[in-house]
Amino acid sequence: MGRDFVYVILGGGVAAGYAALEFTKKGVARGELCVVSDEPVAPYERPALSKGFLLPEGPARLPGFHTCVGANEEKLTPNWYKEHGIELMLGTRVISADTRRKTLLTATGETITYKYLIIATGAQALKLEEIGINGSKAENVCYLRDLADATKLVNMMRMCTGVNAIVVGGGYIGMECAASLVMNKINVTIVFPGSYCMGRLFSSKIARYYEDFYESKGVNFIKGTSLSSFVFNSEGKVTGANLKDGRYLHADMVVVGIGARPNTSLFEGQLTFENKGIKVNSRLQTSNTSVYAVGDVASFPVKLFGDTRRLEHVDAARKTAKHAVHAIMEPKTVSDIDYLPFFYSRVFSLSWQFYGDNVGEVVHFGDFSGTKFGAYWVNNKRLVGCFLEGGGNDEYVAIANAIRLKPVVLDLGELERAGLDFVMAV
Ligand code: FAD
Ligand code: NDP
Repeated sequence: MGRDFVYVILGGGVAAGYAALEFTKKGVARGELCVVSDEPVAPYERPALSKGFLLPEGPARLPGFHTCVGANEEKLTPNWYKEHGIELMLGTRVISADTRRKTLLTATGETITYKYLIIATGAQALKLEEIGINGSKAENVCYLRDLADATKLVNMMRMCTGVNAIVVGGGYIGMECAASLVMNKINVTIVFPGSYCMGRLFSSKIARYYEDFYESKGVNFIKGTSLSSFVFNSEGKVTGANLKDGRYLHADMVVVGIGARPNTSLFEGQLTFENKGIKVNSRLQTSNTSVYAVGDVASFPVKLFGDTRRLEHVDAARKTAKHAVHAIMEPKTVSDIDYLPFFYSRVFSLSWQFYGDNVGEVVHFGDFSGTKFGAYWVNNKRLVGCFLEGGGNDEYVAIANAIRLKPVVLDLGELERAGLDFVMAV
C-alpha cells in the first residue's frame, strides 16, 4: 500500500497546524499536502492543555483551540483540511523513515512518499522510570503532553476534590499544573531537586515571588530533594511517596513534569543532530535537502545570539513552521530566520513574558511586593534578556524591540533605577 504526496508534515501538533496554514497561504494545490499524526484529533494549541483545559469552570474544549487560534489566525478544524484538499491522516503512527528513499512507513503498513518532508514530531514527557522510579502506569499518576493526558488529569481532579496531590517537578508543567490543581480545590505539594522553581529561566528573586504567591494559595514547596519511590495500595494506586531526604508524603494523585525529550529517534543515523535535536540551517533545512525540521525537534540558528538553539516553546514552533514552508514554497524570496526567543506563562491571576537570553548579570526592577516587576539580563555590557510580570501590551512590544537591538548598558545601577523606562526609551 502506498500514498504519494509532494509535501508531507510528520506530526500533528502546533508546528504542523501553522505549517499547514502557511502552505495554503503560499498556494499549495489540492492533494499535494499530507499531515500525518498519531493523535486522534487535528492540530491544536498545546499550551491550552495546562491552562484553559484545566479550569474548573467553563474549560476550553476542542474544537475551540485548534491551531491557529493562538496567533489570532484561522481555526483549522478537520473540515478546514478537507476544504483545502489537505490529507489529514490522524491516529497514524509513523514507525520508520527512510530519508534516502523519501518514504515513511506507518504502523498499519502504509508507505507514504514525499518530495519534501517537514519533521514536526515535537517532544514527549520524560517518564519517572527514566529517573529510576516505578509508577507511571498507575491510574492516579498523570503526565501532561497531549489531549489524552489532559483528559485523564481532568477526570482525576474531578474525583479528587479536597484531597492531596504531589506535583513532581517545579518547571513549566509543575507550576502551571499546581495552579490548576489549586483552582480545582486540591491540596498541592510540589517537589523538585533545585533550590527554587523554574530554575531554567527565573532568577532566585523572581522565583521567590511566585513561590510566595503559590504558598499564599496553600501550595507547599519541598525543594532540594526528589522522589525515591512510590507506595502503592493493593489495586496498584499510588498512596504516597518516599522522598530522598527521608520524608514521606501522602498522595491521592500525582502530576509529573520532569522535562521533555524531542521525538527524533526515527531520524537517528540519517540526519545531523545538535542539542539533542535535528540540526537545521537558517531555512530550517536539515542535512538532507528534502527534509526540514521545525518546532521542538529543531536546533536552529538564532542569529541574534550567534548560536544554534532548540527551543521547546510555542512561539518558536509557530515561527519555524511558517519559515520552513516559506523556504520550501518560495526559496528565492526567503531570508534567513531571525528569531527572538520568546517564552510566557499564565497562572492564577499572574502573567509573565520573557524575551531574549537569560545569561549574564541580572538586574531586577519594579515592585516585587506588588503586581508588576521584572528583570534584565546584561551580558558583555549589552542588554540581552528581559522578564516582565504584569506588563501591558505596549511594554512587551517595547521589550521585544529593545532586546532585538541589544543596547549597550554601561551602568547597571542606572538600568535598575530606570526600570521599564529603559526599554520604553530605546
Ligand atoms: P507538538 O505540539 O508536541 O506536536 C508533535 C506532534 O507530532 C504530536 O501530534 C505528536 O503526537 C506527533 N508525533 C510524534 N511522533 C510521531 C510519529 N512517529 N508519528 C506520527 N505522529 C507523531 N509553550 C509556550 O511557549 N507557552 C506555553 O504556555 C506552553 N504551554 C504548554 C503546555 C503544555 C501542557 C505542553 C505539553 C507544552 C506547552 N508549551 C508551551 C510548549 C509548546 O506547546 C511546544 O513547544 C509546542 O507544542 C511544540 O510544537 P511541535 O509541533 O514541535 O510539537
Ligand atoms: P522543565 O524542564 O520546565 O522542568 C523540569 C522540572 O523537573 C524542573 O523543575 C526540574 O527541577 C524537575 N526535575 C528534574 N529531575 C527531577 C527529579 N528527579 N525529581 C523531581 N523533579 C525533577 O520541564 P516540564 O516537564 O515542566 O515541561 C515539559 C515541556 O513542556 C518543556 O518543553 C516546556 O518548555 C514545555 N512547557 C512549556 C510551557 C510554557 O512555555 N509556558 C508550559 C508547559 C510546558 P530542577 O530545575 O530543580 O532540577
